[in-house]
Amino acid sequence: MRVAVLGGGVVGVAAAWYLAKAGAEVTVVERNDQAAAECSFAPTGQLAPGHCGAWASPRAPGILLRSLLDSDAALRLRLHALPGLWRWGLAFLRECTEERYRRNSLIKLRLCLDSVASLRQLRTELDIRYDHNDNGALFLHRDPAHLESAARDIDALAAHGLKLEVHDAAGAARIDPSLAPVAGKLAGALYSPVDGSGDCAAFTRALAGHSAALGVAFRYGSAVERIEAEGDRITRVVTSSGPVDAEAYVLSLGVESPRLMGPLGVHLPIYPVKGYSVTFPVRPGGAAPRMALVDEHNLVGIARLGDRVRFAGKAVFTGYDTRIVPEMFGGMRKVARDLFPDGIDESKPSYWACLRPMTPDGPPILGIGRHKNLFFNTGHGHVGWTMACGSGRAIADMVFEKKPSIDLDGLTLAGREL
Ligand SMILES: Cc1cc2nc3c(=O)[nH]c(=O)nc-3n(C[C@H](O)[C@H](O)[C@H](O)COP(=O)(O)OP(=O)(O)OC[C@H]3O[C@@H](n4cnc5c(N)ncnc54)[C@H](O)[C@@H]3O)c2cc1C
Repeated sequence: MRVAVLGGGVVGVAAAWYLAKAGAEVTVVERNDQAAAECSFAPTGQLAPGHCGAWASPRAPGILLRSLLDSDAALRLRLHALPGLWRWGLAFLRECTEERYRRNSLIKLRLCLDSVASLRQLRTELDIRYDHNDNGALFLHRDPAHLESAARDIDALAAHGLKLEVHDAAGAARIDPSLAPVAGKLAGALYSPVDGSGDCAAFTRALAGHSAALGVAFRYGSAVERIEAEGDRITRVVTSSGPVDAEAYVLSLGVESPRLMGPLGVHLPIYPVKGYSVTFPVRPGGAAPRMALVDEHNLVGIARLGDRVRFAGKAVFTGYDTRIVPEMFGGMRKVARDLFPDGIDESKPSYWACLRPMTPDGPPILGIGRHKNLFFNTGHGHVGWTMACGSGRAIADMVFEKKPSIDLDGLTLAGREL
């Protein structure tokens, strides 16, 4: 079976690997000159079933409204983005009930758990190095009331396979001793042992190398210009380096997925939500984090990546604008200084900004729609690094008409009000 995977981010490359393993003749079409050059380049790096909560929650509308007035808010809605956002925004608001928030979060959790297990299996099988650690993640709270409220969900999550422990500040500092000097600033933390972290780009590029060795053809520097269809089948893809035709197509173009499907009359509800990260070298001898952390008060994710520490956050609704706005790093730098005053070398920052492919309800979109040989594998939002391997494995099964091992309820378009 000849399969064209459109997009060489972590999601597309993982699908290409599992398809090739299943016996497909795979071509990956990617507009950059290497894999993981866009959203998969410098995300925080957390492998985070513990961070699976859907963004559409009962608190979200209030947070978004307040963000119009607060230029420092972690979540920001720019007024100029509103005309392009109304349809996605209405669907997002519909998902903000308690019931839908819980349902969407559990669907994401199912995929996250499956995916992290798949990724770790791949790592062992292929000996991939990506500055990983499997030390779990600490979700830090500065306010006792917020910690108490977060802890209310742990029994429900445990019933769905996610074990979380509640710790006071001293307990959190025992898990990650780098927090001991600043424990007085914390109320405590939830600890998720299954979480971890790693460099998404390093993993993706290494997996692309293993895929190429297995026979996957990478057409780098090829921009998909048009997808052509006849009836309910895709016939070919026109790229800047010539046409590509295959028996099946996998759409993994991240935030560009809806723009390429629009001309075919297919609406994909994916909005580009901008995020930022800054990476610093570890300062030898200082107290730097040993694991993945989230400062829940400031909504900043933190990951230890070998001899570097990455801080990331912000969710800016501003259309397809990828420019780096230097002021956006203020909050992350403040958290870095506040928690690890001597642990990182602030004089050597690497800045990055990118667009998360967000669906209104949170889970990605997998499987077919109107065209029987086009498989969506897109819309992985804020935890796409975590969900990529599980999605890729499921897509390979679908292409070969095998029943995926993961329950796809809530992950395909069927039954979703998008
Ligand atoms: C600040 C930030 C922090 C994050 N932190 C985490 C985290 O800690 N954990 C986690 O799990 N996730 C995290 N994420 C989310 C994660 O990075 C994304 O969900 C994931 O990278 C999406 O992968 P993708 O392959 O779908 O998209 P991409 O990596 O963007 O891949 C899509 C590919 O398609 C290519 N493409 C697009 N259009 C065309 C075209 N016309 N022709 C050819 N190629 C094209 C692009 O070049 C790109 O390589 C974070 C994201 C951000 C922004």
